[in-house]
Amino acid sequence: MTDQTPHSALRHSGFRFDNSWARDLPGTCVAQDPDAAPAPQILVLNRALAADLGLAADVLAQNPGWFAGGSLPDGAAPVALAYAGHQFGGFSPQLGDGRAHLLGEHIAPDGQRWDIQLKGSGRTPFSRGGDGKAALGPMLREYVISEAMAALGVPTTRSLAVALTGEDVRREAGRLPGAVVARVAASHLRVGTLQFWAARGDHDTLARVVDYAIARHDPDLVGQEGRVLAFFDRVIARQARLVAAWMGLGFVHGVLNTDNVALSGETIDYGPCAFMEDYAPGTVFSSIDHQGRYAYANQPHILAWNMAKLAESLLPLMGDADAAVQVLNDRLSGIAAFYQAEWLAVMRDKLALDGAQDGDADLATGFLAAIEGQGVDWTLAFRRLADAAADDITPLRALFTDPAKLDLWLPLWRARLRAGAADHLRATNPLVIPRNHLVEAALQAAEAGDLAPFTALLAQVTDPYADRPGREAYALPAPSGFGDYVTFCGT
Ligand code: AMP
Ligand code: MG
Repeated sequence: MTDQTPHSALRHSGFRFDNSWARDLPGTCVAQDPDAAPAPQILVLNRALAADLGLAADVLAQNPGWFAGGSLPDGAAPVALAYAGHQFGGFSPQLGDGRAHLLGEHIAPDGQRWDIQLKGSGRTPFSRGGDGKAALGPMLREYVISEAMAALGVPTTRSLAVALTGEDVRREAGRLPGAVVARVAASHLRVGTLQFWAARGDHDTLARVVDYAIARHDPDLVGQEGRVLAFFDRVIARQARLVAAWMGLGFVHGVLNTDNVALSGETIDYGPCAFMEDYAPGTVFSSIDHQGRYAYANQPHILAWNMAKLAESLLPLMGDADAAVQVLNDRLSGIAAFYQAEWLAVMRDKLALDGAQDGDADLATGFLAAIEGQGVDWTLAFRRLADAAADDITPLRALFTDPAKLDLWLPLWRARLRAGAADHLRATNPLVIPRNHLVEAALQAAEAGDLAPFTALLAQVTDPYADRPGREAYALPAPSGFGDYVTFCGT
């Protein structure tokens, strides 16, 4: 090395990989490199997230092959992970990363461990009939919605980059630009990861995977007697909190299969998800969810169903089967009340109530009853409570066809308001969420080569609360001509 070496070539990316999964859980993953992209090009790079992770964004920007496939940062050792899952209620004993590669685990400057995963990066032994690839639109969709969720304070995987591969993928819609999203997650341990080993009756591996999950997500439980049950409690608590946060935002995940439920409690797998506009409990967006299994108001019930599947996977590790069934069933019966308490905490916050009182659940459901069937936009209804708290009820009332129920409810609510309610409401209820029509327009433009609408939308949704001029178009629901919104699983 000489003094003439350009400084940039010496600068380190900041990646510090320590690949504990591949090291500690051999046999649960398969070494597999991402496909080499013919013409890698980074389209979106999350500089703020890179900085938080201790990564040098300028160095990342010079290495598109790291994100589209074709080259690897030092220390990366890509693997595809095995998992199973209940999909729409039916069990698939082998799913796994069919188009994703875990590059490794990056240790951030604060010591936190983060999975860095590419999705859309080529076939693996788990691909079954799939091509292992992804189209640009769904990868940008994951990026913008996951980053919006993070800004809204919801536990979620993050998006570090979207890169074009330079090759087209074939989909029903025809040939589409191929792309890869780089996902950052607390881990990629799913309920389905445990189901994979439980279904095979391989209880040794199951025990090792559970201990690995405990070490990553609940390290205070490591080595403890009774840690499997304690871990189950932790996962339930995280999931209940997560679903309550979704419900507060009108978020419909859309495909809550057990392989899409992260043990970390992060929202994962942004496929057919979308935000509800008009409040209707039965809201479904996914083209394949004909029964409404994953409808908005069904998410708390699906949470309990998915936790029952987790319980079945943990049962073999819990000693005496009869006693274990009893205790796990007790926990499962407790989920509804536990979730209800989390939901009530979210609603007290969204309504800016003063402390906690007995009638609060009725007050919250009273507001939902007032807005239901009125064509009232969920997000705007809560946001405009801020005006109502400051005695201007006009903007809120204007959302309603018939505000009679609202008018009866408002005085009950006013009597429960905390001090500084208007400011609290504006800091709690977003002005801007990823509106379905704007997301679609941004993705279409990006597919046609114009990234400007996507960049503008991303800036808006990652700053969800501020009231500033110029945001009006981002705060409004879809025009009626947009019609019913239908989403597709992101293949
Ligand atoms: P998802 O619907 O994204 O949760 O994926 C369910 C399963 O299908 C996972 O095992 C994925 O890895 C796999 N999969 C989805 N799309 C593809 C694809 N294009 N090629 C290979 N496998 C895929
Ligand atoms: Mg999935």
